This record gives sequence, C-alpha cells and structure tokens, in this order.
Amino acid sequence: MSTIADNLLSIKQDLPSSVNLVAVSKFHSNDDILEAYNAGQRIFGESRMQELTQKYETLPTDISWHFIGNLQSNKVKNIVPIVDMIHSVDSWKLLSEINKQAAKMNRIVKCLLEIHIAQEETKQGLSFDECKDLLKENDYKDLTHIQIAGVMGMATFTENEVVIKNEFKSLKSFFDELKNDYFAENNYFREISMGMSNDYKLAIEEGATLIRVGSSIFGARI
Ligand SMILES: *Cc1c(COP(=O)(O)O)cnc(C)c1O
Repeated sequence: MSTIADNLLSIKQDLPSSVNLVAVSKFHSNDDILEAYNAGQRIFGESRMQELTQKYETLPTDISWHFIGNLQSNKVKNIVPIVDMIHSVDSWKLLSEINKQAAKMNRIVKCLLEIHIAQEETKQGLSFDECKDLLKENDYKDLTHIQIAGVMGMATFTENEVVIKNEFKSLKSFFDELKNDYFAENNYFREISMGMSNDYKLAIEEGATLIRVGSSIFGARI
C-alpha cells in the first residue's frame, strides 16, 4: 500500500521546476497533512473557512495555505490573516473586500482570478468577457494590499482528454492575453492554476504553474 509520502514523492518526481504543487488537504486529518509536511510539502490547499482556521491553529507555522474554495465576502476577514493565496476570486466585490481586510492586517494577499472554462454550468468563475470587464471597469491598481497573481480554472469532468486539453489551452491563451493587455509590467502576474488529480499531467503540458492535487496524494475523501 502506498503512503502519503510515497504518493507525494512520485508526483514531485515528474514535476518541472516551473510548476508548484498545492497539496489539497480538505477533509483530511492533521496527521495526514503532517505526513506530507514531513515529506517536504509546504503548500496546502483548503476549501472551507472553518476547516482551514482549525488546521492553521494546530499545524506548523511555515505552511503556506492556499484557499481554493467558493468564498463568501463575510468569510474573507477570517481567511485573510491565514492565507498566502486565494485561487477562487471571481468578483470585484471579493477583490475589494480581500484588499480591505488585508489592509487592516497590513498583509498582502495574492489573488487568482477564477475563470469558467468547463462546459458544466456552475455559478463560480468569470467568463473571459466578464474578467476583461472587471479589469477594464475597476481600479484594481489601487488595491495595494492584494496582488493579482494570475488565473485559475477547472476543466470539465470528463475522460475525454481532447476536451480537457482544449480547456487548459484556452486558459493559457487567456492568461497570455491578460498579461499582455493589463499586466505587462507586473512581475506578480505569472500563475496559471490548473490541473487536479485526474488531469494535472495534461495541465502541465498546457502551461500550468500551480497544480492542485488532493486525492492522488491523500486518497479518496470520505
Ligand atoms: C478538491 C479540489 C481539488 C483537488 O481535487 P482532487 O481531484 O482530489 O485532486 C482541486 N481544486 C479545487 C478547486 C478543489 O475544490
């Protein structure tokens, strides 16, 4: 039987140096997280505020926590003191709230703009047009306590690799467009967060810089 440390190392073995691994530890215990930590993992992803704050209080302080879940404005103040990066920002309201709370705590929080690239209907994520409108219509450069660090997307849940690859390609080219049109002089805008347990290899081929892998490291979530 393979352990968490083995799973982690086998994923890391094939990782290009341009790609960082976010170990998605939602629903998994502190012991599981510590096993990954002791094998050298430092970036962990969580998707629920309460679970994240509990883990944060008891686990080593040099963990870099990334928030990857659906985020409500009223929860922002609880996660801003904890996280280095929020992958799931899909509105101006959230961006400005994160900035406001981060300013109070004198922190800078990296934010990724979540883009809807999958065929499935979900409420989460901006369309390409909505994202461009957000950047056109708002003074994001005035938000001095956030850094818009890139984009995040989730591919359709399918076994059809052509569909998945095309969605990842579309996110990469949208990233390139935003970089060129809005963030050309900005060194922080460099992350493409895409790829999960089932599709992270395809995501790496298409230019991911952050992959978010849970069950391939920790096993199934029960
Ligand atoms: C749960 C989750 C993951 C990890 O999914 P796995 O299939 O377990 O690797 C990645 N990204 C997001 C946004 C998630 O919610």
